[in-house]
Amino acid sequence: MKKRIHTVAILGSGPSGSALACHLIQRGYSVTLFDDGSRPDLLVGESLIPSILPMLDRLGVRERVAAVGLHKPGATFVFGPDSTITFNFQAVSKCKLPTFAYNVPRAEFDAIIEQRAIELGVSRVAQRAKVERTGTDTLHLTAESLAAAPSLGGKQPDLLVDATGRARTFARVLEIPATVGTRKDAAYFAHYAGFEEPQPRGQIVITRLAVGWSWRIPLRDRLSVGVVINRDEAARLGETPEQRLEAAIARDPALSAAGANRQRLTKVASYTNYQLITERGHGPGWVMVGDAFGFVDPMLSPGLMLALRSAEILADNIETPAKYARQMDAWLRAWQELIGYFYDGRIFAMYHTGLALGKKYPGAISRFMQSHMERNIACMASGASTLSRYSRGLVKLMSRHGSWLGDPSASAIV
Ligand SMILES: Cc1cc2nc3c(=O)[nH]c(=O)nc-3n(C[C@H](O)[C@H](O)[C@H](O)COP(=O)(O)OP(=O)(O)OC[C@H]3O[C@@H](n4cnc5c(N)ncnc54)[C@H](O)[C@@H]3O)c2cc1C
Repeated sequence: MKKRIHTVAILGSGPSGSALACHLIQRGYSVTLFDDGSRPDLLVGESLIPSILPMLDRLGVRERVAAVGLHKPGATFVFGPDSTITFNFQAVSKCKLPTFAYNVPRAEFDAIIEQRAIELGVSRVAQRAKVERTGTDTLHLTAESLAAAPSLGGKQPDLLVDATGRARTFARVLEIPATVGTRKDAAYFAHYAGFEEPQPRGQIVITRLAVGWSWRIPLRDRLSVGVVINRDEAARLGETPEQRLEAAIARDPALSAAGANRQRLTKVASYTNYQLITERGHGPGWVMVGDAFGFVDPMLSPGLMLALRSAEILADNIETPAKYARQMDAWLRAWQELIGYFYDGRIFAMYHTGLALGKKYPGAISRFMQSHMERNIACMASGASTLSRYSRGLVKLMSRHGSWLGDPSASAIV
């Protein structure tokens, strides 16, 4: 195909923007990357999933990430005092992925990918870019932003990429709506010392709370603790983010016991309105990647994997953005579907049914069914087969017909 695009300007040097810059410069495009570097020190997105590791390899940064990250063997879901499911990434060896991931300090993780882009020759402009609308569906860089980027030589780039995350710059300027998720949650989180360390080392723990859920993500020298709660309920817990997070920890028996000696090391960060998928992710001369295109939900930690995957898919389809947008939409909706099973309790109903049947009818067939289901869910949640029609069909079938010994509503997250 004849190349129409030669110059690309990317707004935002978060993981999606920097990763895209790396892929495009290696394919011979002239790439300008705008960001003023004013990101807060404390950022969510610290738990990775195995499918991101091959992407880090392709970026040439896996060793650097390993040097700042903590080996993550899997995830434990605590749905009640007697109801725990432990996912071990060993199960994903069958879907040809590494059997672990990392938990990472976000500032360092982002800096590694951005640094890689600069090493590869991307022109970095230390400024927030501004765009203005030029027609119903068109926009360009303002004269001020164009002048700040000598690499563009005073000419508008052939392609503008919105990698500005939840700022959703192009969607705001072009007034493109987003499909909004069903949950009305707020997330509050901070770093702590003195919390009990989840076992085995590096394991993340997701705990169902009376309202909402919490995460515990071990980093090398601290624990990231977050709660995700309905916004109205959060308001009842206190005035400030600090009061809300502390109250949510204090009122949950498992969390308050694990954090009896906790000391908060950072301020509390809060996030709202993050379940958004853009209704249109590309137009004439522009396209969106990463969170600017869409983000589903933090449960199961798909965000950074999707940010890097969107950069790869776009780099492969830069001349055919409609194809890219279709693939991204499919990824986001597949994650949404999978995460739905965790919120409405069906995953646990299936799990309990499998255990009960295994006890009642011990033998090779029960063991095979149980491990086949677990492997399929682990491969979907690790990002290997999230899109697989077979895995999705199997989970759908079992959630309808293989969960009768468990009560989904007893494990649902409200
Ligand atoms: C509560 C919560 C918990 C999460 N937990 C996880 C998790 O455990 N694991 C996981 O993988 N994901 C998680 N995520 C998602 C993850 O944080 C995001 O998916 C990821 O940060 C998206 O990367 P990005 O590069 O698209 O955007 P961002 O990381 O938001 O980067 C956007 C960049 O654009 C810059 N920018 C903004 N405006 C401009 C402008 N005008 N010009 C230039 N630059 C600009 C910003 O400064 C920033 O550097 C979580 C999200 C939420 C809400």
